[in-house]
Amino acid sequence: MRVTFLGTGSAMPTADRVQTGILLEDGDRTLLVDCGSGVLHRLSQTDVGYEGVSTVLLTHHHLDHVSDLLPLLKARWLAGEEHLEVVGPTGTKELLDGLLDLHDYLQDRIDLAVREVRADSFEVAGFDVEGYEVRHSMDCLAYRFDDGFVFSGDTEAFDGLARFADGADVLAHDCSFPDEVDVANHPTPTQLGEALAGCDVGRVYLTHLYPHTEGKHREMLDSVEATFDGDVRFARDGLRFEI
Ligand SMILES: [Zn+2]
Ligand SMILES: [Zn+2]
Repeated sequence: MRVTFLGTGSAMPTADRVQTGILLEDGDRTLLVDCGSGVLHRLSQTDVGYEGVSTVLLTHHHLDHVSDLLPLLKARWLAGEEHLEVVGPTGTKELLDGLLDLHDYLQDRIDLAVREVRADSFEVAGFDVEGYEVRHSMDCLAYRFDDGFVFSGDTEAFDGLARFADGADVLAHDCSFPDEVDVANHPTPTQLGEALAGCDVGRVYLTHLYPHTEGKHREMLDSVEATFDGDVRFARDGLRFEI
């Protein structure tokens, strides 16, 4: 499986980090996970392009994870593509219905399938996925893909999620802020390290990075590594790796 970070920013994007989006590719299978602002443009910079991505899997419905959904739908329509499937937690149908009510000229331009999933096993775009309910300010699912890659979505760090990720080759985890920012619904690096302590994960990428993290990468890594004895790195837009 090839994983590409399209967007590693947050609701406050920076010049180098658009909002959340991760591209998974394996042979003919492609899947976009989350579709925040800027992700459509980042997708256009890849070989597969928005023409090659017909399925989007959402972790949750905050704007920085869904705001490029209709721009993606419209770009695919204009490119002559006929399908788009959007899969996500409870409320995904209502979200898409609402968006298309508002932008009704996009109704029926493309064959849109919407599917809701829970914290369970399911298949999407040919990938075997396990969902896991995480701790955020709205319902949000972490996902484990083909048993090798785990994405936390937006969440606090906690033992249950660390166990869910245990044994994975790579975990991409929300690490929105440095330690000095007092925050709920996202972890600090110290909290992330403590949750991951003793966990067997090949590599951890820190993502969903707010501007507050700029210039703080070394100290954030030190904080995670104070209790987690593993390979920890910062994600960045365009970073690609194979599992
Ligand atoms: Zn969120
Ligand atoms: Zn977010």
